[in-house]
Amino acid sequence: MHEASITEAMLNLALEYAKGQRISDVYLQVGRMSFVVPECVEFYFEHLSKGSLAEGATLHFETVPLEMTCTDCGRQADLSEWADEQPRAIMIEALARGCQCGSNKLRVTGGTGFHMVSLEVEAESNGKEKENEQ
Ligand SMILES: [Zn+2]
Repeated sequence: MHEASITEAMLNLALEYAKGQRISDVYLQVGRMSFVVPECVEFYFEHLSKGSLAEGATLHFETVPLEMTCTDCGRQADLSEWADEQPRAIMIEALARGCQCGSNKLRVTGGTGFHMVSLEVEAESNGKEKENEQ
């Protein structure tokens, strides 16, 4: 399944970045056109991270809106008035209206990806060395 493989790739990347430290939080960006379902990613993450340093980490999802750009003049289309609609509907509306320059050659330039933005690791505890053993 789609989410299973991307979750596995994301988990491997997170573990690589964490360099052996325990991961507490993972920050992700999900494009509205990426067709990634956060609930599915969470489900697979919980399953795949078991026994790893990412087990129990919290996933934070940020939704990236659809972005369309005119290929003739380079202007970014203002899609804000359709923000609540489905991406497909937004694309249809935007193409129907076209660009301010009169062109209707708009292409999707954002909101299609799934990215790991950052992650947080648990603070290294030096407690053992500082413990007073009397
Ligand atoms: Zn244009």
